[in-house]
Amino acid sequence: MAAPLRLKATSASPGVATGPAYIAEPLAAAASPPSNLSGHAELGNAIKTAIRELQNLAAGPDLEGMDIIEFQIEVLQDPTLTEMAGARIDAGENVAFAWAGTLDGYIRELECSEEERLRARAVDILDIKNRVLSVLTGTSLDDFPAGSIYVGRDMEPSRFLAHDWSAGGGIALYAGSAVGHVALLARSRSVPMVVGVGQFTTEGRQHIEVDGDSGVVVLQTARENATPAQFGHPATSTAPIADNGSLHTADGEQVLLSINVNAPGEVDSIPAATTAGIGLMRSEFAVTSLSDAANEEKQFAIYRRLLDWADGRTVTVRMLDIGGDKPLAGLTGASSLRGVRLLLARPEIARVQARALLRAGIFSNLRVLLPMVTFPSEIDDLRQIYREEASELTRRGVPHGIPPIGMMVEVPAAALMLDRFESADFFSFGTNDLTQYLFASAREDAGFAPHQGRTVPAVLRLLSQAVKLAGGKPVSICGDMASDPSRTADLLAAGIRHFSVAAARLPAIRSAIVGLNADGTKAAGE
Ligand code: PEP
Ligand code: MG
Repeated sequence: MAAPLRLKATSASPGVATGPAYIAEPLAAAASPPSNLSGHAELGNAIKTAIRELQNLAAGPDLEGMDIIEFQIEVLQDPTLTEMAGARIDAGENVAFAWAGTLDGYIRELECSEEERLRARAVDILDIKNRVLSVLTGTSLDDFPAGSIYVGRDMEPSRFLAHDWSAGGGIALYAGSAVGHVALLARSRSVPMVVGVGQFTTEGRQHIEVDGDSGVVVLQTARENATPAQFGHPATSTAPIADNGSLHTADGEQVLLSINVNAPGEVDSIPAATTAGIGLMRSEFAVTSLSDAANEEKQFAIYRRLLDWADGRTVTVRMLDIGGDKPLAGLTGASSLRGVRLLLARPEIARVQARALLRAGIFSNLRVLLPMVTFPSEIDDLRQIYREEASELTRRGVPHGIPPIGMMVEVPAAALMLDRFESADFFSFGTNDLTQYLFASAREDAGFAPHQGRTVPAVLRLLSQAVKLAGGKPVSICGDMASDPSRTADLLAAGIRHFSVAAARLPAIRSAIVGLNADGTKAAGE
């Protein structure tokens, strides 16, 4: 057999994986609307699909569920609901929110009924609300076979998240970015990945190797010689981890070590007791379509699951950081906005998430983090939404609690003016965006790594100034710089005492911290 062909690439996530190549179709334009149909027609079709799904369910062996399903089909066939949702669409509401808003009104009426029989129906309506929602903006992407090496120009975060990586596999991108969101997900799940390999030809299903350690793709890998792709955390993560998320520098200063989470299932393999909790949950990777964004129950279940896992430790959920390079499937017309600005421009999205978080707020130690904050008024406006939704929940008798609300510090203007953000309860430094906006450089730029090279001194100066402006409020760092052990000394010296890192980096950052003094100098004997 001819010698294997080695293609030079850039490493984006360490580890080596071998498997059959899956050649992806070119990506469709991001956030394109799902169809050219009018909102009315889209809703009509979604309802028909939901009815068909229910009829299929009814054809199954479970006779007990028949009554409920028949009732649900009857409700879906009732023109009153469609007309009410139609009126909201005519008033300019997006179809998913028009449907969710209409059904929420119905559900609330049932919940407040005097009759127990009617109150019990609320959950059946909730079920059909969600069924239609998931059909409506269901933009699910084709999955690829487990254990394959995904080969393509780029990859959507939702495709990464929907895929089962437990059988191994890896990613080789012709273009892509080592600091893009998929790379970030790959590192957190220890999926080997390389980017910038350039267009290459391989037959689909031919075995190839992705070497994320050396930044190489190897073609013509013989199946017999293939090492099974590894899943799990890389070698470093098998090192013993102390049994709590708080540790001390060599000279005895306490430091907290939390994890960044992108999808709720990521925590399953990590004992909560080895962490100080979740310092950043990127909710936009768990709530990936407009129908998810309209789905309060789905979101509540996600936050609840993380809080259960954390068992009293802090769980910091960042509200949807959507817009820009993180489009929400099905959301159109707001492409120039991102993060909190988009949430304030589309308050119907913020309100659903706020309700889910308020309801989760009864479980201990939830914190809410606002993305891409630039001005103090943005926190005040978001807080007002929380107050209004909290009073509505009180009126309905739904248990809830208002969690502390903090902000990402990832816009340079905000970092410079941190003392003005009186209404923020805590701060978390996002060095990925902070660096790109400080240097007028897109984070996707090839060769641009926010925690390495020429950008570092200016970022560190900004961070240490901002820590001083934080006025004693809790401060942490969740950008990629926190996960790089070669930067731990600088960050300690800048005054950071809480690191939130990719789970796979816990052991490396733990070792770095214990070998350093609080001022970042090396401990004696190191
Ligand atoms: C950051 O900008 O550093 C950050 C943590 O947010 P994200 O990477 O999700 O943009
Ligand atoms: Mg960011």
